[in-house]
Amino acid sequence: MSTRVLVVNSGSSSIKYQLVDVDSGEALATGLVERIGQEMGAFKHEGPNGVVKLEQPVADHESGMATVLALFAEHGPELTAESLSAIGHRVVQGGSVFAGPALVDDEVEAKIEDLATLAPLHNPANLQGIRAARHAFPTVPHVVVFDTSFHQTLPAAAYTYAIDRDLAEKYAIRRYGAHGTSHKYVSRTMAEILGKDPSEINVIVLHLGNGASASAVRGGVSVEVSMGLTPLEGLVMGTRSGDIDPAVLFHLQRVAGMSTDELDDLLNRKSGMLGLSGSSDMRDVHAAVEAGDEKARTALEVYYHRIKNYVGAYYAQLGHVDAIVFTAGIGENDDIVRINALSGLERLGIQVDAERNAGRKKAETQISPDGAEVAVWVVPTNEELEIAREAVELLAQR
Ligand code: AMP
Repeated sequence: MSTRVLVVNSGSSSIKYQLVDVDSGEALATGLVERIGQEMGAFKHEGPNGVVKLEQPVADHESGMATVLALFAEHGPELTAESLSAIGHRVVQGGSVFAGPALVDDEVEAKIEDLATLAPLHNPANLQGIRAARHAFPTVPHVVVFDTSFHQTLPAAAYTYAIDRDLAEKYAIRRYGAHGTSHKYVSRTMAEILGKDPSEINVIVLHLGNGASASAVRGGVSVEVSMGLTPLEGLVMGTRSGDIDPAVLFHLQRVAGMSTDELDDLLNRKSGMLGLSGSSDMRDVHAAVEAGDEKARTALEVYYHRIKNYVGAYYAQLGHVDAIVFTAGIGENDDIVRINALSGLERLGIQVDAERNAGRKKAETQISPDGAEVAVWVVPTNEELEIAREAVELLAQR
């Protein structure tokens, strides 16, 4: 039997899962449980016999997981303890505690719980999924893979905020970054494509999804990332502002009387493309531009401008760049964003070929002209496969 890993990504009211065949890299089944704890829950399971949908109340993560097992049993593929090499869990915040994946035990669970102060919305929700899955599969090894681990290699110069040292230390304030699993997968795949070892190349990764982040990866090691203490910093995102002068917050507190929660809501959920154009979805923004909407046009210009700033900054930090890679929902599908975000950088050896760039990319695609100094590629991300691989690698080391 092939090496199979069930990858679980648990949110506060949802569980996303994928059964991965690590040998072939294929997804054997994918699924989603939504609206856990609400009046009516929803299940979607896609296996060898197509898609199955189910509506029924889901009291908690545990009962959601039990129904997922029943869906596997009824609609396939086989999901027994014997058929699974591991269960891999995505966890958002590993702080400075987890520089790599970890085998779950009660102590690891407690550490993830402690780190909830840094990710109050995510770590407790991730833990609920871990607990439910451990209950369902007590004999299978459970491995946690953190969104922050890949960026634990950042040098102090990159992760340190220039604030009072004692305060920063007391409250663990530093840059942790995020989307690490994606940045790692994409930068390694890029090395493979170029026929090199990751240690031989420098890559700038642009993960442009609803959440967006840039990273600089030197010789396979993350040395810069645009997300900070939380995923709010950096690029313009679907609903997050990205970089902003922190004084805007004091100013809004003083002149608009806004509370901490209101400011949190403003910057995390009502800003970015949504705040600027009225929609967080890039497809709507392009449609609005075509219809002559000036706000949407400016929103896109701000979006490109920010990406270009990061590409320039990371170019300067790396000194030499072998490749720039686009990934995630916008990076993989939006040719207009790709070509505009990198326009005018020819003097840095960065070019995008309009014909190669055109259209959505479902597979790894070179979009720079042959012979360009910097290879520009689209590499579809696969965080589930990366989590499954890391789980198997960790178990092999034991
Ligand atoms: P992700 O968070 O990686 O799932 O990316 C989701 C985002 O990708 C959506 O909010 C859209 O803005 C964007 N997206 C998805 N499909 C397309 C497309 N065909 N063209 C442009 N943007 C897209």
